[in-house]
Amino acid sequence: MIIVMRKSATEEQIQLVMKAVTDEGLEPRRLDGVERTVIACIGDERATSAERFEVLEGVDRVMPVLQDYKLASRDGALERTRVPVRDVIIGDREIVVMAGPCSVESEEQIVSTARAVKAAGARILRGGAFKPRTSPYAFQGLAEDGLKLLATAREETGLPIVTEVMDPHNVELVGRYTDMYQIGARNVQNYALLREVGQTRIPVLLKRGMSTTLKEFVFAAEYILAGGNPHVVLCERGIRTFETATRNTLDLNALPVLQEWTHLPVCIDPSHGVGVTRWVPPLARAAVAAGADALMLEVHPDPAHAWSDGAQSLDFEGFAEAMDGIRRVAAAVDRTLPQPVA
Ligand code: PEP
Ligand code: MN
Repeated sequence: MIIVMRKSATEEQIQLVMKAVTDEGLEPRRLDGVERTVIACIGDERATSAERFEVLEGVDRVMPVLQDYKLASRDGALERTRVPVRDVIIGDREIVVMAGPCSVESEEQIVSTARAVKAAGARILRGGAFKPRTSPYAFQGLAEDGLKLLATAREETGLPIVTEVMDPHNVELVGRYTDMYQIGARNVQNYALLREVGQTRIPVLLKRGMSTTLKEFVFAAEYILAGGNPHVVLCERGIRTFETATRNTLDLNALPVLQEWTHLPVCIDPSHGVGVTRWVPPLARAAVAAGADALMLEVHPDPAHAWSDGAQSLDFEGFAEAMDGIRRVAAAVDRTLPQPVA
C-alpha cells in the first residue's frame, strides 16, 4: 500500500508514520514529491491494514497498490507527477521540447545551437559529453570539458541542460553541472547507475532500452524512485524490430500504456526513434497528438559534419519548421508550445 500524506503534513508526522510502518514489519520508502510526500510500504501487508495508518495525524489517505512497482504505479498517485527542471515543468499543459546536438563538440557549436533552439521554442538544451558509442574507436565525447561547454551555453541562454551519465562513478561529476541526468538506452537496466541517481534529487530522463519491455522499463524507473528521487521522466526512443528501413521503430504504443500504468511524464525521442532527419518532424507531431508531455530532438548547426548522429539531426531552419508543425498539433490537443522569438 501507499500512504499519501497531506500537503500540510509536518516532518514529525511523517516520521511517526514511517515508524508505524516499521512497527508493522514493513519497510517504508519515502518519496518527497513537488506537492506532497508519499510513503510506500514494502513487504508482506497481510498482517496489517490500511485502517492502522489512516487514523494517524497528517495522513490524507491509504491506497492499495496491486503492482510491484509501487512508487511508479498510477494506483497510489492522486495526480500526474510534474518534474521541475529549474524553472521548466515537465508534465504540465506545455509540451517541453529538449533540443540540441547529439554530442557537444565546441563552444561555438553548443552556444549557437542553444540560441537557435531557444528562439524556436525549446525549453531545455540537450547535448552529450559522455557518449555511449558502438565502436570503442568512435568519438566518445568531450567528458568534463563538454559539461563545461554546456554550462556556458546555459549561462548564455538561461536554458537548463540535460546530459547523459553512463557510469555510477560519474554521477557526482555530471551532477555538478547538469540540471537533468539522461540515462541512455544502453544503461536502462544498469541497476548500480539507477541506484546512484536515485540517491540524488536531480531530475532523470530515463530512456527505454532498444529491447526493454514496458514492464522492465517501469521497474527501471522504480529503482530511481525507490532511492528517494521522485523526479523521473520516461523517454521512448525506438526499439529494435525486424524493420531495417529505419534506425529503430518508434514505439508510440508506449505512450498510452505508460500513462495508464504510471503517473510519470512521458517524453518521445523521434530522432533516435526513426534515425532519418526528414522523418523526424512527422513523428514528433504524432507523438504530441498521442499525448507526449515532452519531446527530445537532435539539432546541429551543420548536420553533415556532426561528430555523431548527423543523419538524424535537424538544422536550425528544419528545427524551427518542425516546431511550427508541432505547435499546430499541440493546439489541436489542448497543449501549448512557446511561440518562436523573431
Ligand atoms: C542520445 O541521446 O544521443 C543517445 C545516445 O540516446 P539513446 O541512449 O537513446 O541511444
Ligand atoms: Mn544521439
